[in-house]
Amino acid sequence: MYVERLAWNPEMELMSEEKMRRLQWEKLKKMLEYVYEKSPFYRKKFDEAGIKPADIKNFDDFATKVPLTTKEELRDLQAQGYPFGTNLCCNYEDVVLVTASTGTTGKPTYTGVTQRDYQMWKECVKRTFWLAGMRPTDVYLHALALSTWISGYALIDSARELGATLVPVGVPVMAERLLMIAMDTKANAIACTPSYAEHLAERVRQILNRDPRELGFRKMCCGGEPGAGIPAVKKRIEEIWGCDLRDVMGTPEMIPADWVECRFKQGMHFVAREYCLNELVDPDTKAPMDLADGAEGSLVYTSLEKECAPLIRFEVGDRIKVFTSPCECGYPGIRISVIGRIDDMLKVKGVKTWPSAVKDVLSQMMPDVTGIFQIVLSEKPEAFAVRGPVRLRVEYGTSVTQEQLPGLKSRIADRIRTALVWSPDEVELVPEGTLPRAEMKARYIVIEPQEKK
Ligand SMILES: [Zn+2]
Repeated sequence: MYVERLAWNPEMELMSEEKMRRLQWEKLKKMLEYVYEKSPFYRKKFDEAGIKPADIKNFDDFATKVPLTTKEELRDLQAQGYPFGTNLCCNYEDVVLVTASTGTTGKPTYTGVTQRDYQMWKECVKRTFWLAGMRPTDVYLHALALSTWISGYALIDSARELGATLVPVGVPVMAERLLMIAMDTKANAIACTPSYAEHLAERVRQILNRDPRELGFRKMCCGGEPGAGIPAVKKRIEEIWGCDLRDVMGTPEMIPADWVECRFKQGMHFVAREYCLNELVDPDTKAPMDLADGAEGSLVYTSLEKECAPLIRFEVGDRIKVFTSPCECGYPGIRISVIGRIDDMLKVKGVKTWPSAVKDVLSQMMPDVTGIFQIVLSEKPEAFAVRGPVRLRVEYGTSVTQEQLPGLKSRIADRIRTALVWSPDEVELVPEGTLPRAEMKARYIVIEPQEKK
């Protein structure tokens, strides 16, 4: 049996902000000295900025004097020596696990952990699962990738150590097989991407000819892509499955899962305050911003405890909104919602936009559309800027008649324009079932070079 409580590790997680801040400062000072000594990458970076760890006397110094670390820098430094380049701060033989991130530009970026780092990861994931409602009495079916991805091993090990009954299926997998295992094991909790949750529901109807609710998944953790944080999408998935869906987020370069919604679902709580320092910066000027209620900016992370390749002021690439009003559940610290990830960002006619925003608009138009769509570009964006026409390919629902299609087209264009300030050059409607379903991550942007005329 277990004791019902708000947090997996109440002593650390529920620590007052003031006390936590002091602990973070002690850890930050040590970390700056550690990377200056062990990481040629950071030593060079600090030297170029004209700073030594001892020059950083408070959090303000840190935010204003220490330069940001960007994803491009990580890629560059890895290219100089895989897998961690000049930021490897321990012996490679002490690294016990290496994970690869998806990477949008071909070669993946790698994240490694020592034995101690891996304990830290699992601690964070257990906290995340607990706040998401998972308990030792649950049967947890893991339907995220199992292989070298960061969401694989750390999540299944953590679910098992939390005491849940672990069923590590992994994706991609035949839906028939996953559903059979789910029923045989009486799984009631599942982690998957939000697009997979929708795909699987369709397959339940097609293969089993049953209502997805009958499968008994009551707890669902969704992450890996935006969706679970979009209110209309979350509501729909919860209704389809009859489940309590929690949005979960981690950072491939840092910690597999450390942001999660509590049962009140008013933004995601942060469970790793003593392992990771959060900052907010202006996405354009990179100037530090206060983590104030309602503030929108770019999330910056600093490892406070990591032996292998820690990152200092790493700009994760997430555009977030901050909430500071106390949550009803009593969990301390800030909460956030994700506006978009920099990797998915597009600039259409100078306006920044995200596929998740398009998904939000279309989700509100169901059942006239299925919610499945593609943004079709004629060439790969450069520095996020889209050149050439933008086509939006949308699946319409089975109830829509041929006569209604032109009207639906213009309604979609209008809704997009109203909500997002830009509109596609063309809306293309295709029948339900035409577009590929996501087995793992949904792919919203496709490049189709235009035929030369
Ligand atoms: Zn809460």
